[in-house]
Amino acid sequence: MRVLSVASECAPLVKTGGLADVAGALPGALAAQGVDMRVMLPAYRGLADLVKAPKSWPLQDAPGRLLAGRAGRLAVVLHDAPELFDRDGGPYAAPGGRDWPDNAQRFGAFARAAAEAAAGAAGPPPDVVHAHDWQAGVVPALLKLRGGPPSVMTIHNIAFQGLFGREALAAAGLPDSLMRFDGVEHHGGVGYLKAGLQFADRVTTVSPAYARELTTPEFGYGLEALLRWRGTAFSGILNGIDETVWNPADDPALPAPFSAEDPSGKAAARAALAERFGLSAADGPIFLVISRMTSQKGLDLLLSALPALLEEGGALALLGSGDAGLEAGFAEAARRHPGRIACEFGYDESLAHLMQAGGDAILVPSRFEPCGLTQLVGLRYGTIPVVARTGGLRDTVIDANPASLAVGAATGVIHAPGRGDALAEAIRRTCALYRDPAAWRSLVAAALRHPVGWGPSAARYAALYRDLVSARLAA
Ligand code: ADP
Repeated sequence: MRVLSVASECAPLVKTGGLADVAGALPGALAAQGVDMRVMLPAYRGLADLVKAPKSWPLQDAPGRLLAGRAGRLAVVLHDAPELFDRDGGPYAAPGGRDWPDNAQRFGAFARAAAEAAAGAAGPPPDVVHAHDWQAGVVPALLKLRGGPPSVMTIHNIAFQGLFGREALAAAGLPDSLMRFDGVEHHGGVGYLKAGLQFADRVTTVSPAYARELTTPEFGYGLEALLRWRGTAFSGILNGIDETVWNPADDPALPAPFSAEDPSGKAAARAALAERFGLSAADGPIFLVISRMTSQKGLDLLLSALPALLEEGGALALLGSGDAGLEAGFAEAARRHPGRIACEFGYDESLAHLMQAGGDAILVPSRFEPCGLTQLVGLRYGTIPVVARTGGLRDTVIDANPASLAVGAATGVIHAPGRGDALAEAIRRTCALYRDPAAWRSLVAAALRHPVGWGPSAARYAALYRDLVSARLAA
């Protein structure tokens, strides 16, 4: 079965967050299920150079052309339209951080190019199209209008909806007749994500808990009624992580390998981490943060909980970038508490690996979290997740209580979301567990054993694709 995955980022080629990890891992995970997946991406600056011997295909309905070929382990189709994508800056924003003013045109054209690829413009047409987030949201609508292959739309974060003015209709190649509430109209404008949710044959999101939350006003960002209406066509499929990329037994960023069978190498990574961040003064656990710094991630709550962390003898190593106020808050805390709190503001993949290996616990105090990947990586590296009880965090971490500890099932510490006092209490609880070597050994061992790979979820996606293909054949 052939599937075209349409995404605006894909690791290791271009990444701003978890979407890239998922788009980059799915092809490998699905190959084991007999699915032949190509990933379609915009040809951002420099991307075409990464494709070996690309084959070029013309486009009729969108600017530029399609380039198909292999980039490392991935089979990719690039939408090569230099006036839209060949620029300095990020995939969605200019170097200063402001969204590109022509994002409706950029991703409207990208969706039109993807619909052409789905119709066979870059080789044999796929059996199913899998669109990710608002940047590909128009694709299912175009396929429905044009009688293309069946589609799946996945929501990685509903806070980002691709809401534009009416002029986006033309940019996306959609007819005026869709400007209605059961079409693509949203808040008086055009919603690219809404288009996908309305017209895809199936809608998924990245954890079962987030799927339930999205049908409520608190989490649905105005799309909850539509998602309720989709009924059983909407479901949650938990993300995994790429166990070859994140593998403590074979990771070039680590001073020594380790594994569930032999975790002793973790101590060398801890020493390297403490030295790298200058954390010389802690006798408690080293907590990590590896995150975009936004209010979604609850890092303002962590600032308010730092006194508890310090009182308990803990240390903090933070890697992240984003909100200037949050960065300033953590920079100030680091100045006041040298040897205990240290920050790196920026994006550093290799440092993230060393931190995950060397840390004792990783903090994810999100206000909402579709799935969350850093807690899964934490589990894989025996770094105990301390997480808010929301979205995918609640689907992936088992709270340490006397019962779960007694049977060796506990893998982390969970707290009420959105509350600094609850986070402070969770940090105290983590430090108490750390002071009890037997309890901590049991937690680390359970974390290292916890399955975090793609196997079961890849099988679910494959089953979803097969259902759509058989429904099409039966029709
Ligand atoms: P989101 O997609 O909301 O940002 P996820 O937890 O789903 O959050 O995915 C975040 C991904 O980005 C993880 O792979 C994480 O390791 C990585 N990441 C986030 N910030 C940084 C950073 N500053 N440096 C390196 N990797 C980072």
